[in-house]
Amino acid sequence: MPSLPKWINDTVENILSSKFKECTVTDIESVTVDLRRIRFSADLQEVEFEPAYAIGIRINDRDYRNYSPFNFNRSMGTFDILFHMHDIAAAGGNFINRLTIGDSLKILMPRGKRFFEPNAPIHFSIGDETSLGSSLSIKEAIQEPGQQFICLHELNDSSALEALNLYGYHIPKNSSMDIIETLTDFLMEEKQAVDHNEVIFYLTGNGDTMSLIRRFLKAKGVSSQCIRSQAYWIEGKKGL
Ligand SMILES: Cc1cc2nc3c(=O)[nH]c(=O)nc-3n(C[C@H](O)[C@H](O)[C@H](O)COP(=O)(O)OP(=O)(O)OC[C@H]3O[C@@H](n4cnc5c(N)ncnc54)[C@H](O)[C@@H]3O)c2cc1C
Repeated sequence: MPSLPKWINDTVENILSSKFKECTVTDIESVTVDLRRIRFSADLQEVEFEPAYAIGIRINDRDYRNYSPFNFNRSMGTFDILFHMHDIAAAGGNFINRLTIGDSLKILMPRGKRFFEPNAPIHFSIGDETSLGSSLSIKEAIQEPGQQFICLHELNDSSALEALNLYGYHIPKNSSMDIIETLTDFLMEEKQAVDHNEVIFYLTGNGDTMSLIRRFLKAKGVSSQCIRSQAYWIEGKKGL
């Protein structure tokens, strides 16, 4: 999201006040050294939600940062966010690091493009730490018996997956070859389903890695209608 003067952000919050909700931090848990789960409570009765939608948190006068809710429970009025604490000196990381239980903040409610394909037989979510929340929301949304959820995450600490009950492929950071090898095996094993457009690939996280995976999948014959992608961060760029 672009950095804007304070008065513009204040005006937008006033004009679009129905899009913002007062949210209270009710729980904070360190999942791993660099992954923090925070639960927020708010009145979510009229709020729309789809897997991989993002909320916006105003982290200072000029800037917002996007994060992906999961465990979105309209009747309980709660949702969770997994924050990748990549750098507590960065504006967003610093703001999140200072949140404590009981804090109240105005959050831009979930919005985004249609990402999730509810009827797909196989859902494959690929990304990094920033993608874990979207992966969880996709997994939670799969309700039909016989549908499958698979995930592949590039992680510094793979113990996060067990802690989140999100079992799947994991590979160390910056090892594109490992991603390609894992996907090559998957495409061979699931050739028939891939050929019949039954697998939807959801690519999020590091924009450069995502572009590489997208190119690879297309080169292997995966239809572009089966690839959904959204960059969550790009080296050297602030707050996508
Ligand atoms: C739709 C959407 C949903 C998202 N959901 C989540 C989510 O659920 N959880 C989450 O943690 N993040 C999520 N992100 C990513 C998050 O918004 C970015 O990582 C954001 O840049 C963090 O802000 P910051 O102020 O901490 O760092 P910035 O000031 O924006 O970035 C400073 C520098 O840090 C580097 N950087 C940024 N993010 C990372 C990272 N994750 N790992 C390593 N280096 C990084 C870049 O080089 C950047 O130039 C999402 C982004 C989008 C667009």
